[in-house]
Amino acid sequence: MATIAIDPRVSGTTAEFISQRHKMYIDGRFVAAASGKNFPVFNPATGDVITEVPEAEEEDVNRAVLAARRAFDEGPWPRMSPSERGRMIWKLADLLEQHLEEFAEIESLDNGKPRTIARVADVPLAVDMFRYMAGWATKISGKTLPLSSGYDFHSYTMREPIGVVAQIIPWNFPLLMAAWKLAPAMACGCTIVLKLAEQTPLSGIRLAQLIDEAGFPPGVVNVLTGFGEGAGAPLAAHDLVDKVAFTGSTEVGKLIVKAAAGNLKKVSLELGGKSPAIVFPDAPIEQAVSGTASAIFFNHGQCCCAGSRLYVHEKVFDKVVEGVSKVAADIKLAPGLDPSCQMGPLVSDEQYRKVVGYIESGINEGAKIAAGGPVSGFDRGYFVRPTVLTNTNPRMKVVQEEIFGPVVCAVPFSDQEIDRIVKRANDTVYGLAASVWTQNLSLAHKVARGLRAGTVWVNCHNVFDASLPFGGYKQSGWGREMGEEVLHNYTEVKAVTVAL
Ligand code: NAP
Ligand code: MG
Repeated sequence: MATIAIDPRVSGTTAEFISQRHKMYIDGRFVAAASGKNFPVFNPATGDVITEVPEAEEEDVNRAVLAARRAFDEGPWPRMSPSERGRMIWKLADLLEQHLEEFAEIESLDNGKPRTIARVADVPLAVDMFRYMAGWATKISGKTLPLSSGYDFHSYTMREPIGVVAQIIPWNFPLLMAAWKLAPAMACGCTIVLKLAEQTPLSGIRLAQLIDEAGFPPGVVNVLTGFGEGAGAPLAAHDLVDKVAFTGSTEVGKLIVKAAAGNLKKVSLELGGKSPAIVFPDAPIEQAVSGTASAIFFNHGQCCCAGSRLYVHEKVFDKVVEGVSKVAADIKLAPGLDPSCQMGPLVSDEQYRKVVGYIESGINEGAKIAAGGPVSGFDRGYFVRPTVLTNTNPRMKVVQEEIFGPVVCAVPFSDQEIDRIVKRANDTVYGLAASVWTQNLSLAHKVARGLRAGTVWVNCHNVFDASLPFGGYKQSGWGREMGEEVLHNYTEVKAVTVAL
């Protein structure tokens, strides 16, 4: 194994976990890759290798899919009483909660985010997701339907588990994305092959250990570490998989759709965004400033719903831009495990280069820097300063494309443009989320109605809850995560008609 340098701030428990010889979880056992290959995991605050994990390839994907297939076709899980399934999911939530501090550390070390944030957001939201879905296990039901045909029939529908589910997740909220995917599929009685993101495999491996401890039958959940092309692609294309659920870039989302065509497996996609935050002149300014700053800077802008286009009425434009720029300038950048950290490094060198490249392209196309900029001042680690750009125009790359970093484009609008602002806000290929900042109730609802986005926040941004459906219009995706809505992703509806 390459040299290992674990941050000295991690606890003994976490250090012990990180330095384990990591395994994948297939058919209820912890196993190496069939090829014996591993790949390195980096600490984004330093660029050091901290450990390595197995590199799944087609053979491992086959083993995992066959295990999930057997567990679905012959195993107890889909046949178990819903309350037993619910209890097991709840038990997993309890175990996760008991290890909250450890998961917060792992997440911070692997992804770069502040431990303080992982502790109050990533881990508790994942626990909530399992608990919320544990409750749904006993409430997935059909309807009885009166027929119009006049004959004497009794008809009803039932919702059945969709089958073997492939799940592919990104690195921005590694544990939480795993929970968003696993919990509803578990509740519906599906069996699962989950591929973790190559950049952030550690919390998912630890979660697999808790899934094992909770007593899930073998093959119900299989967890693979590997790359998109080597493991994700054969998984998405596999003929024995009934459904693929993907979160990541719109570009890869389109590849998933193609890969799924072979056996016409069902597909749900949670993809990118370029979400607008619209500030009207009557908005409470302090709240709008702190709210729109955190809309873009939360999780270093590595959120699919980050408020990356800030439209502000010209009457308050200077005040809001100054305020958001001051927030940006005051944010303390540090390694995620540093107690003073308010923003850590981006997840990877690749992401760092991409985001800095966007800032430079904005400058080259004529944008002005109101805060931040391409130079971080750090001699190592993937740090990018929270950046505010003004003087942009709608055709610039920074305005159109998803940057997935702490970079916001601020754009003024005038009284004459109020009616057109919704149209401008809708003017991207994405439609994931938006926020509206105003005290005018009627205006807030009117704008919410006009926005082509799966989530609209009023006087807030980035509010998530297991009960709220989340997903995209347009090229931001297919289907919804969370809430009752997500159950549609993991069930088939059967209509049964009985002649009486
Ligand atoms: P990505 O390439 O879309 O990766 C997401 C997941 O898909 C990862 O597990 C990835 O594997 C896997 N994957 C990649 N190629 C695949 C293929 N051909 N078939 C099946 N699975 C495949 O995203 P990324 O490279 O991590 O980030 C690129 C950009 O995507 C970001 O800059 C951002 O704009 C966007 N993004 C969006 C979200 C979101 O929540 N909407 C999340 C993350 C990123 P690996 O393990 O090899 O990565
Ligand atoms: Mg990738």
